[in-house]
Amino acid sequence: SKPTIGVIGMAVMGKNLALNIESRGYTVAIFNRTGSKTENVAKEHADKNLVPSYTIEDFVNSLEKPRRIIMMVKAGAGTDAVINELIPLLDKGDVLIDGGNTFFEDTIERNQRLDKSGINFIGMGVSGGELGALQGPSLMPGGQKEAYDLVAPILEQISAKADEDGKPCVTYIGANGAGHYVKMVHNGIEYGDMELISESYNLLSHLYNNDLNKVADTFKDWNKGELSSYLIDITANILTRKDDQGSDDFIVNKIMDKAGNKGTGKWSSQSALELGVPQSLITSAVYGRYISAYKDERVKASKVLDGPKAAPDINVDEFVEKIRKALYFSKIMSYAQGFAQMKAAGEHYDWDLDFGKIAQIWRAGCIIRAQFLQKITDAYDKDANLDNLLLDDYFENIVENYQDAIRDVVSYAVKAGIPVSGFMSAVSYYDQYRSEVLPANLIQAQRDFFGAHTYERNDKPGIFHYSWYEEQ
Ligand code: NDP
Repeated sequence: SKPTIGVIGMAVMGKNLALNIESRGYTVAIFNRTGSKTENVAKEHADKNLVPSYTIEDFVNSLEKPRRIIMMVKAGAGTDAVINELIPLLDKGDVLIDGGNTFFEDTIERNQRLDKSGINFIGMGVSGGELGALQGPSLMPGGQKEAYDLVAPILEQISAKADEDGKPCVTYIGANGAGHYVKMVHNGIEYGDMELISESYNLLSHLYNNDLNKVADTFKDWNKGELSSYLIDITANILTRKDDQGSDDFIVNKIMDKAGNKGTGKWSSQSALELGVPQSLITSAVYGRYISAYKDERVKASKVLDGPKAAPDINVDEFVEKIRKALYFSKIMSYAQGFAQMKAAGEHYDWDLDFGKIAQIWRAGCIIRAQFLQKITDAYDKDANLDNLLLDDYFENIVENYQDAIRDVVSYAVKAGIPVSGFMSAVSYYDQYRSEVLPANLIQAQRDFFGAHTYERNDKPGIFHYSWYEEQ
C-alpha cells in the first residue's frame, strides 16, 4: 500500500519523527535534499516500513491522496526552497505541514499563498528535541481546521501523553500562524525558566561556597515539590556530572559562560513589544544571554568595576527555601506574562486560542513540561476568559504568600552584587500589575508639556491640553 504520510528532511528531527510515525503502524515516505542521508536512514532501518525516494517527484508520487507531508528542514530559506519545489507537484486538498521552528509571520504568509492553489498549509510547532521527536513530542499545529482533521489521528498517536490523564499533547491551535506563534511563546517561556533556574543556581553556589553537590541535591529536592519539571530535573542531573576531558572538576565549571540562542526568545520579545504587552521576563532572559556573550568585555570590566565589599549575613537553610519560593513566584510571573501575550496575539491576529488546552499540551513532551502546567489548565477551566493568571485563586494565593521571600532574595542579591535580572523583573511586574495608581500621570504631563500630546483626566471624560507656557 502507498505511504499514508511522508517526511522531508532526514536530519535528526525529521528522521526521528518519521521513525515515531512508523512505530505507530504507518508506512512513511522519506526524502532529503542530499540523497545519501535518505539512503543511510533507509539502510539503518531496513526492517521498518520506510519508503525512500531520491527525487522530490518520486516522493510526492509515492504518497496516498490527499497527500500528507511533514517538512522538518532548516527554517527560513530551506523551508521556502522545499515549498517552491513542492507547489507544482501538489494537488488541491493536499496537506503540507511545516514542523520547523519557523517565524509565525512567514507561516501566515505561506498559508495564505498556498491556500490560493487549494493546498492546505499547517505550521506546526514541535517541542521536545530529538528524543521528543522519536518518543513523543508536544505538537502545536495551526492552519486550516479541515486540514488538521485529516492528520489529527496520526498527530495524536505520535505525540506525548500527559501523566495526569493520558491525553495526547496535541490540539488544533488556530488558523494560519497560530501554531508557530504558540511554539514561539513556548520557547520564550523556556528562556525565562532557564534564566530563573540559572539565577537560582548562581545564588545557591554562592551560599554553599561552590559546593555543587549541595546545589545538585537542592535542585533534586525541589524537583519533588511544586517546582517539579523537566528543566529542574535535568539541572540536578547536569550539576552531578564530572568533566569528560580528564580534570576532576564538574563539567559545568568547565563550560564557557556564553549562552547561545537561535532567535525564538528574541521573536517573542519583539512580538510583545509590537502588541504592546509587558514581557519583561522573557526579555530579561534574552538580555541575560546577550550580556553573557560579552565575555571578554566582562572579564575586563570585572577588573575595573568593584562590587559591594561584603554580603549581608543570612541563615543559609532559611535562605535556600526563600530562593525556592522566589523561583516559583517568578515562574508564575513569567507564565502570566506569556499567557497574557498569547491573549493579546489571539485578539490581534484573530485566532481563537484555548489557553487551557495550550497549557494541557505542554504538560508532557516539551521542554517546559512541568506539574505546574496542570494548575494553569485548572485556572482556565474555571474561567476561560481570565485576564491574567495572577487573578486565579491558586496563583493569587501563592504569589501573595511568596512575595516576602522574593523581596528578601532580591534585596540580598542587590546588596551582595549578584545579578538577578529575572527575579527583579518578576517582582517589579507583580508590583506594577497590582498598582491601582502608577506614576504614568507624570509621564503624560511631561508629554503634554513638551509635545502637546494631550492627556485624559481621572475625574471627568475628555481629552485635555494644559497651557504649560502660561504663567499662573
Ligand atoms: P536542521 O535545522 O539542521 O536542518 C537540516 C535539514 O534541512 C536537512 O535535512 C537539510 O538537507 C535541510 N535543508 C536545509 N536547507 C535546505 C534547502 N535549501 N533545501 C532543502 N533542504 C534543506 O535540522 P534539525 O533536524 O535539527 O531541525 C529541523 C527543523 O526542526 C528545523 O526547522 C529546526 O528549527 C526544527 N526543530 C529542531 C529541534 C531540535 O531540537 N533540533 C526542536 C524542534 C524543532 P541536507 O541534508 O540536504 O542539507
